[in-house]
This record gives sequence, C-alpha cells and structure tokens, in this order.
Amino acid sequence: MKKVYKHGEVVLKISHEKCTGSGECVEACPMKILELVAGKSVCVDIEKCISCCACVNACPEKAIEHSMCG
Ligand code: SF4
Ligand code: SF4
Repeated sequence: MKKVYKHGEVVLKISHEKCTGSGECVEACPMKILELVAGKSVCVDIEKCISCCACVNACPEKAIEHSMCG
C-alpha cells in the first residue's frame, strides 16, 4: 500500500510495504509533519511541506517519493 498526500503540486507518497518504521524521516523533517503510526511513517499535515527532500534523503528503504525531489 502506498499512502498518497497531495497539496497543490506537492505529492508525497509513502510505501507502507517498504517502510520499516525506523523513524529517520520523522527526525529529519524540519516541519515535524511526519509521524510513526502503528510502526509506519505517515504525513499529518501535507499543507506544511516545504519540499526540502530531507525525508526522501533520510529513508534507508527508499520508501518515500516526493514530486519535487529527485
Ligand atoms: S519534503 Fe521536507 S518538509 Fe516535506 S515532508 Fe519531507 S522532510 Fe518534511
Ligand atoms: S525513514 Fe523510511 S523506513 Fe524509516 S520510518 Fe521513514 S519512511 Fe519508514
């Protein structure tokens, strides 16, 4: 399952198959809009995303895709 979060041109996708709940993305996000819920990363407020790509770069499982990153 891929959870998809959209706001304007921002599209953030988190693969729940790939996510191991390691938490690096949660730590990396400067806007604090990623949280672990039941061991998976979820985005709680996509409207605040500044497209910094920190979450994409932090994830060792390549579980996060972002429309403005890479
Ligand atoms: S792109 Fe940046 S602001 Fe947006 S969710 Fe990822 S780390 Fe947070
Ligand atoms: S860094 Fe990747 S594997 Fe770790 S919690 Fe975030 S999305 Fe899941």
